Amino acid sequence: MSLTPSEDRNVFLKIISHAKEYGFVFPSSEIYDGLAAVYDYGEYGVELKNNIKQLWWKTMVHLNENIVGLDAAIFMHPLTWKASGHIDGFSDPMIDNKDSKKRYRVDHLLEAKADELIEAGKNTDAEILLQTMNQLLAKEDFVTLKTLLETEKIVCQVSKTANWTEIRQFNLMFSTEVGAVAEEANKIYLRPETAQGIFVNFLNVQKSGRMKIPFGIAQIGKAFRNEIVARQFIFRMREFEQMEMQFFVRPGTEMEWYNKWKETRIKWHKALGFPSNKLKFHDHEKLAHYANAAVDIEYEFPFGFKEIEGIHSRTDFDLKNHQALSGKKQQYFDPEINQNYIPYVVETSVGADRTFLAVMCNSYQEETTQQVIKAEDGTEKSETKTRIFLKLHPCLAPIKVAIFPLVKKDGLPEKAKEIMELLKYDFNVIYEERDSVGKRYTRQDLIGTPFCVTVDYETLTDQAVTIRDRDTTEQKRVPISSLYSLISDAVSFKRIFEQL
Ligand code: ATP
Repeated sequence: MSLTPSEDRNVFLKIISHAKEYGFVFPSSEIYDGLAAVYDYGEYGVELKNNIKQLWWKTMVHLNENIVGLDAAIFMHPLTWKASGHIDGFSDPMIDNKDSKKRYRVDHLLEAKADELIEAGKNTDAEILLQTMNQLLAKEDFVTLKTLLETEKIVCQVSKTANWTEIRQFNLMFSTEVGAVAEEANKIYLRPETAQGIFVNFLNVQKSGRMKIPFGIAQIGKAFRNEIVARQFIFRMREFEQMEMQFFVRPGTEMEWYNKWKETRIKWHKALGFPSNKLKFHDHEKLAHYANAAVDIEYEFPFGFKEIEGIHSRTDFDLKNHQALSGKKQQYFDPEINQNYIPYVVETSVGADRTFLAVMCNSYQEETTQQVIKAEDGTEKSETKTRIFLKLHPCLAPIKVAIFPLVKKDGLPEKAKEIMELLKYDFNVIYEERDSVGKRYTRQDLIGTPFCVTVDYETLTDQAVTIRDRDTTEQKRVPISSLYSLISDAVSFKRIFEQL
């Protein structure tokens, strides 16, 4: 059953408050009313995010013999950003409302208008609007773009007026200064993408790792963008994390690799549990300054299909410019064809935070059941019960097993802690003895724990426990000796790798 846009918005608001209430994501420095588009990950959020990052790292680096890892610094020589084109070209067209002084990205204003048209059933009008916008953006025709805003009667959400400034480009890089003395300080940037750390280390890694083309370098790290409009929770942040891989290939073979990586990466998202109908490719109409082909993998969030990963054929743009600006050759000698060349690059770049958000949206479940309640006078009435749980892939779940003693006495807590000892070195396990077992199940459902293990009086004699499955709520009795292999099998990354 598909939801209406307002139901979708409702679900999204529920997911945001769930994320906060149960320790996944908090607004940054909330006691000071927060900082726009900056978020902190809580006790379960950090586990989930680490699991996503670890899964990506294993898939890209450990399962591919020709891909190695790197951890480059956030600060880089300022010329890096000249060579990459970010100083001159990393900007978005923006416009200010003169009455409210509020700043907007022009494409966001027009996209919001298109969403309104779709909600009103005017899909063709929305399509034409987006097409026109893309054409004007590609030509950087800001005068006609502004006219388009006016003819569409787009107004500021705050002042409700269309009293707009001219459209201008706004650079998204954050800058700061390095050096103790103000006059001698040099302006440096917080990296807006992790990719450049890979490019400037291309020859170091190629030589130290004796890498042969085709090969890749992968990296996970923070990136910073002064996004004009902070929207949609952790979808668009000013500080976020990217998981990027640059694949160096012989010139002329880049399209073959581009297509291969497109297929490989969409399979990864499907293996995470995203249904096929919630994923799609979106080819770029306006190619970035460095690319000769580019596609996004989009996931259908409650607010629509949006990018979670970009795959770009970056040609030799970056290495060629680094060679020109640094004066250091960035060439590779290919023994198979006896030639020196600057390699071409295919990039896969996925946001850790956007993947996290997609995983949260995909796993949030509300299950309603009808229950018949018998009153004291014998009459029966039917009640609707809602169970909320996160149907996370077990390998991503923050906590793998929760262990409960049925009661807080008679040696049951000691037995439960013995079981923890068996499991805790390999799995993230928690112990819980407060409240009723039912309430403890509910708490674990809310954070997506796939298994709950209860130790009862019988355990002391039969050395068996009750294990409860989060998704089916089924309970079965299993010997303590089989717990390790049962859990290990269910939470292994192998379950995902088998689908790749
Ligand atoms: P968008 O068009 O949504 O601004 P982009 O095309 O600029 O994204 P890329 O430069 O291709 O994004 O970055 C690669 C990935 O990094 C994106 O697919 C996304 O997952 C992530 N990413 C980019 N910007 C942000 C951000 N502001 N907040 C969170 N994740 C981001």
